[in-house]
Amino acid sequence: MNTTAAPFSSTAPATPESATAASTPSVVAQAERLVVKVGSSLVTNEGKGIDLNAVEQWAEQIAALHVRGKQMVLVSSGAIAEGLVRLGWPRRPSAMHELQAAAAVGQMGLIQAYEVAFARHGIRTAQILLTHEDLADRHRYLNARSTMYTLLGLGVVPIVNENDTVVTDEIRVGDNDTLGALVTNLIEADALIILTDQAGLYTADPRKDPGATFVAHAQAGDPSLEAMAGGSGSAVGTGGMLTKILAAKRAANSGGHTVIASGRQPNVLLRLAQGECIGTELRAELPVKSARQRWIVDHLRTRGRITLDPGAVKALSTDQKSLLPIGVVAVEGEFERGDVVACVDEHGVECARGLINYSSSDTRRIMRQPSQMIMQLLGSMSAPELIHRDNLVLTAHKH
Ligand code: GLU
Repeated sequence: MNTTAAPFSSTAPATPESATAASTPSVVAQAERLVVKVGSSLVTNEGKGIDLNAVEQWAEQIAALHVRGKQMVLVSSGAIAEGLVRLGWPRRPSAMHELQAAAAVGQMGLIQAYEVAFARHGIRTAQILLTHEDLADRHRYLNARSTMYTLLGLGVVPIVNENDTVVTDEIRVGDNDTLGALVTNLIEADALIILTDQAGLYTADPRKDPGATFVAHAQAGDPSLEAMAGGSGSAVGTGGMLTKILAAKRAANSGGHTVIASGRQPNVLLRLAQGECIGTELRAELPVKSARQRWIVDHLRTRGRITLDPGAVKALSTDQKSLLPIGVVAVEGEFERGDVVACVDEHGVECARGLINYSSSDTRRIMRQPSQMIMQLLGSMSAPELIHRDNLVLTAHKH
């Protein structure tokens, strides 16, 4: 944790709301396009069934912001939890097909509740179900983006969830915090508000550590946050806070600020929009990546991994050069030309991602070779670079 540069300010754990004393107004006040994510336990009142009262209150607040001209997207979990209730299943099954069946049943209830709640305010809603594959495929990504923009232009509030019924481990996003960040990136939203059943982020688990303090402000992507939220080197692992911290880091790639706040606070969305600082605010202060760079980085899984020698790592990271075949020492996985691959150093630490110009089998044949040899080795040469600089995004080293 960097104490000299004061990456965040904290307040006592007993009074997280005292974050309102902060000098700068909430980032939400300036935001024109917002993504609001609500978690399963909030939506379904800890698994008891859809909390219609809570849904109505969020709909009312979102409607009020919508009337003020803000573009609003809701990412809602709760399909599986509601499906279990509707099917009368007392316990969450572990079999994928049963979870998927529960999601299919519960999603109906979820969307019905939102439709009715928003209709009371004269607002139309739309159901958007996405998988990671939809966002990893360039055409589907662009389609999803233009549909979202069209809906927002029509004054519709899109309600997004993962398409749980069809996902497999390979194509799923896995959690809706990450999905919320991907949607934030997709539509270049100004803010992502993650509503949860906790007040926000603490420096340690307040249930176990009396010295824990509340984090009111921090910079999204600050590595010390990951440790606090249960990342490596931390003793704390409180209720999914890590996925929220990582979501904030991801949202910052498109300049989106994140707020993690309790969805049980009265008028939380309206108060945030009025500039009140509630919860933990994670500001996006990193350089904003282009839409294309974000699309490359937002691949949660890559088809392949190539290991670079130290010279190539330096050429990419410091000298901003393209990746040439000569710098590659190993190739893992099966991929085609145009797929996104991860570039790792000799210790396996990822340093970049990019769209590769050669398939995995061709890459294996030309690796460690100068580019002049490509023609002779493959019989044709589509490019002298393995990954062109324009198709390459540096990803932070994790130490
Ligand atoms: N998509 C899941 C559902 O609606 C929830 C995933 C999550 O809570 O992060 O049930």
